[in-house]
Amino acid sequence: MAGDEEKRPRTFIHDIIDEDLRTGRFDRVQTRFPPEPNGYLHIGHAKSIVLNFGLAEQYGGKCNLRFDDTNPLTEDPHYVESIKRDVRWLGFDWGEREYYASDYFDQLYEWAVQLIKEGKAYVDDLSPEEIRRYRGTLTEPGIESPYRNRSVEENLELFERMRRGEFPEGSRVLRAKIDMKSPNLNLRDPVMYRIIHHPHHRTGNKWCIYPTYDWAHGQSDSIEGITHSICTLEFEDHRPLYDWFLDALGVHHPRQIEFARLELTYTVLSKRKLRRLVEEGYVRGWDDPRMPTIAGMRRRGYTPEAIREFCERIGVAKSNSVVDIALLEHYVRQDLNKRAPRRFAVLSPLRVVIENYPEERVEEMDCINNPEDLSQGTRKVPFSRVLYIERDDFREVPPKKFYRLAPGREVRLRYAYLIRCVDVVKDPATGEVVELRCTYDPATRGGDAPDGRKVPATLHWVSAAHAMKAEVRLYDYLFTKPDPDDVEEGQDFTANFNPRSLEIVEAFVEPSLANAKPGDRFQFERVGYFCVDPDSTPEKLVFNRTVTLKDTWAKLEKSGKVE
Ligand code: ATP
Ligand code: MG
Repeated sequence: MAGDEEKRPRTFIHDIIDEDLRTGRFDRVQTRFPPEPNGYLHIGHAKSIVLNFGLAEQYGGKCNLRFDDTNPLTEDPHYVESIKRDVRWLGFDWGEREYYASDYFDQLYEWAVQLIKEGKAYVDDLSPEEIRRYRGTLTEPGIESPYRNRSVEENLELFERMRRGEFPEGSRVLRAKIDMKSPNLNLRDPVMYRIIHHPHHRTGNKWCIYPTYDWAHGQSDSIEGITHSICTLEFEDHRPLYDWFLDALGVHHPRQIEFARLELTYTVLSKRKLRRLVEEGYVRGWDDPRMPTIAGMRRRGYTPEAIREFCERIGVAKSNSVVDIALLEHYVRQDLNKRAPRRFAVLSPLRVVIENYPEERVEEMDCINNPEDLSQGTRKVPFSRVLYIERDDFREVPPKKFYRLAPGREVRLRYAYLIRCVDVVKDPATGEVVELRCTYDPATRGGDAPDGRKVPATLHWVSAAHAMKAEVRLYDYLFTKPDPDDVEEGQDFTANFNPRSLEIVEAFVEPSLANAKPGDRFQFERVGYFCVDPDSTPEKLVFNRTVTLKDTWAKLEKSGKVE
């Protein structure tokens, strides 16, 4: 087996594939990622992408990208493009193998005719509502439709007329003739075709009957020679139906393997719900950095490497569980720590005047770009008499364990000097501290005292005359509860929308950031990881906070609260 085994934990799926290769059921591995183009991909899809493309890679096989485009009412070519962009950005390549279920509509139609001829499918005139009622429940068997025993000839003729567009929507369907008393509801004569008088984004007006997902999915896998058809647990109960179709047709029969879908705390992972957030204006779009979509995470500053690592590390399981979103953030932080250059940015500025520093003097301080990767070199940051520091880094009356700046106290300005606070200027009206008067020790250039004296804290800073203004967008979780669906009767998940999920502040950033381009990622020292937003221009810099520096996951791990 090829690939980096250390990186990719073995799963029960590997055991199944190994067994199939050993017994000769298959002599190769062919997987696929089958999105429906009715929304943007989210982190749950990323898990499926990493799994399917990863398995193909590990076994020297192939993974197809197939659009399951069977519903013209909800699908759109815009989504096709977004899906391709996102899969590529995650780092996967489907080569020439870009397929569409709609490419198989002719074949599926022929197969439907074949089943009719064999007495295994029939045209039903019941209304959708009647079909639902006749279907029965988990405890009650279904009732056979009065149209179930039509002759093959009549079925062929009606199905052909359905295709020609002679009937209105909802008036007839084609159903498989299986067993209305089956304990598995999926086998109670499932619908194979419905009439939809709506053009399709790829087949235009050619069809006005469209295959259901159940009829299209397994056969599409078969046509593509998929060996391992990997899907989420909801489809376990559909497997007997897919088996029935494939066996009835006598065609290539992939093995279906179900795994638990990814769920994340404070997050919804359903395109239907994500679409509501977009359409009802809770967020600015599918790529809003608060969204768990790939496009949102990209805009937020997550790296494909971090997302892949997360998806691989959480592994695949047979039973559903919810993953702590702090774990995803942990991998993002870990990755950015290695690659993101450090910069100075002050998000909540407090003015500092260094009284004994000459008015006109400017010094260029040498700052290390990344202490985790010294090959990233150093940069110059201008230092002058008037600076900004973070308002939180000063307390007039410091509480216990507050080691930062306070009246009379000396601290280090990183890569610059030791400074001491000698006076505090307040707004006479409000009493608010508006400026600190400080002195610096000229002998401590670079930040170290020659006499070796220690200071309790090191602060970041920017020079007021040189800093650039920037809009900084601070994000919090989209929902206020770990389970957004935990709502009162009569409410839905939007009741838990977090109104404070976006806070915008005006910050001062060091001048080297003037050249930052959308997508560039930085660590603002002591503040967090940030990424330049596509809205950013040289005149108006805009940053998204990717993650804070506080790794709640690592803390939990240390305290032994998680494995
Ligand atoms: P949603 O429920 O978000 O609408 P879906 O399953 O309807 O998702 P598809 O476009 O049909 O969306 O999904 C494409 C593939 O991604 C499927 O194989 C599906 O199993 C997988 N997938 C979707 N959501 C998740 C998830 N949360 N975790 C793992 N895999 C997922
Ligand atoms: Mg689906």
